[in-house]
Amino acid sequence: MATKTKKAGTTSNGMLKSFNPRTGEVIGEIPAVSPAEVRDYVEQARKVAPEWAAIDPEGRARHMREVRVRLKEKADEIAEIISAETGKPHHEALAHEVMASLFQLAYLEHLAPKTLKRKRLIPLLGPILGYKARMEFRPFGVVGCITPWNFPVTNTFLAVASPLFAGNAVVIKPSEVTPACGEVIRDLLDVLPSGVATVIQGGGEVGAALVDAPCDKISFIGSPPTGRKICETAAKHLTPVVMELGGKDAAIICSDADVDLTSSGIAWGAFANAGQICASVERAYVVDSVADEFQERLVSKVSRLEQGEDVGSLTFKRQLEIVSSQVDDALKKGAKVLTGGPGAGKKNENGSLWYAPTIVTDVTDEMTVLKQESFGPILTIIRVRDEDEALRRANEDGVNLTASVWTRDKDKRDRLVAGLRAGSITHNMHIETSVGPWGTWGGVGESGFGRLNGELGLLEFTVPTHVSYSAMPKLKRGYWYPYDETSKRFTRSLIDFLGSREAPQKLGALKGILKDFTKLAKSRW
Ligand code: NAD
Repeated sequence: MATKTKKAGTTSNGMLKSFNPRTGEVIGEIPAVSPAEVRDYVEQARKVAPEWAAIDPEGRARHMREVRVRLKEKADEIAEIISAETGKPHHEALAHEVMASLFQLAYLEHLAPKTLKRKRLIPLLGPILGYKARMEFRPFGVVGCITPWNFPVTNTFLAVASPLFAGNAVVIKPSEVTPACGEVIRDLLDVLPSGVATVIQGGGEVGAALVDAPCDKISFIGSPPTGRKICETAAKHLTPVVMELGGKDAAIICSDADVDLTSSGIAWGAFANAGQICASVERAYVVDSVADEFQERLVSKVSRLEQGEDVGSLTFKRQLEIVSSQVDDALKKGAKVLTGGPGAGKKNENGSLWYAPTIVTDVTDEMTVLKQESFGPILTIIRVRDEDEALRRANEDGVNLTASVWTRDKDKRDRLVAGLRAGSITHNMHIETSVGPWGTWGGVGESGFGRLNGELGLLEFTVPTHVSYSAMPKLKRGYWYPYDETSKRFTRSLIDFLGSREAPQKLGALKGILKDFTKLAKSRW
């Protein structure tokens, strides 16, 4: 990283400024590429892609192991850079970025070779018709990965690891808000064969150029408005995309919830990473009978959180503006702040970005805090009559990237889980699925489509190719020319076999198929 400069900002003269949001200090400058150069980077990656694809999945996993080991070896140094540039506590940088990324990489290393193996298919009537088939999972070529600033390492691995394990070369455009973390990614992936993973730093215009290059697939993590723009450009090239977008996640706190456990879980689910998590709890629907006790316990715990140690600063100025305006709007319209709010906690000097953990209650539909993603340290508490009302409102008031249910009752849990509309659902915990590479990560509706992580995430970055071949290569297929009486009867028998309800009819049809298939196969034309 280059020398310190005086003013904060994002770009100037092709340089990105690395900014410490705890102090407002600019801590470095990192060179950006120009949009005009992006196509060349993609072309370079396209040249290398076939070599990476030609390595078998076990071999690629061995290369990826080196990335994992490097991440572990540099854990503290990396956590320091992340913490300085995002404002999150050092412990969160270690736990939510280094450790979470290791979870992903370690699991995919074991999962990828199994998932990407050729799969034998079992064609219907295959042995009779002399037909064999298999699936091959081939990479796309070059995947463009565009990532956000909230978890600049974990979310970049989330976007990038599945395509790499699946045999694609990647061109990565990290967030311009956290360019020093983008350099961390560059350094970690440098252990891969040259050109397999390329980091290009820059702002939205560089991301737009990457989509327009075009790439063979796009792996995007970010906001719905940017997602829409990417989809428009991708549509021009018919480039497939994975969209991991924002959420306004709900938690349902049932009448029988363990109040101590739940208040601890919701405090963490709402305020970890200063609430700048796509899967943060932003709406807590609490059944009336338990609401007073829950609220009291939660407020007492959240008031004890220390800014700096437990809850970091915000990372991005725009986010501070959104958070402040949502709370101001809510207060103006009659909401109550139970802890935090305007003027609470650390004061901002020299452009630092602190906002105290804030709990808002008495919220209504007219308030942006209930209807729009906060992506900051705000939790709304909504009292409801019963679990049915909680379920209805959890689904209707906002989109759930993830959602959670807090209860001691397994039947209640299962009923609520079944009724929730979300990309992933948790019981007596929240957020965790984002680092559960054994499952998948992805949204519903406005929170996105496509999947990262897990088997489906790996397959997302493959072109599943159906290969089928004749098991009797010297014989002609029964349905080829000429369309004579035998071939017409053969077709009839197949229709009878496939469409009949009863076994005797199917058996009769099968005999016809066998007889005519042999005859047709041996005939010459
Ligand atoms: P953002 O959409 O502003 O930016 C994301 C990335 O897109 C950045 O790298 C940016 O430079 C790039 N970009 C901007 N304009 C572009 C364009 N026109 N074409 C191509 N790329 C462009 O989002 P952000 O502020 O970085 O992140 C916050 C958002 O991300 C929130 O909505 C949050 O919920 C969401 N998010 C989602 C997930 C998930 O897994 N679903 C994870 C983290 C964050």
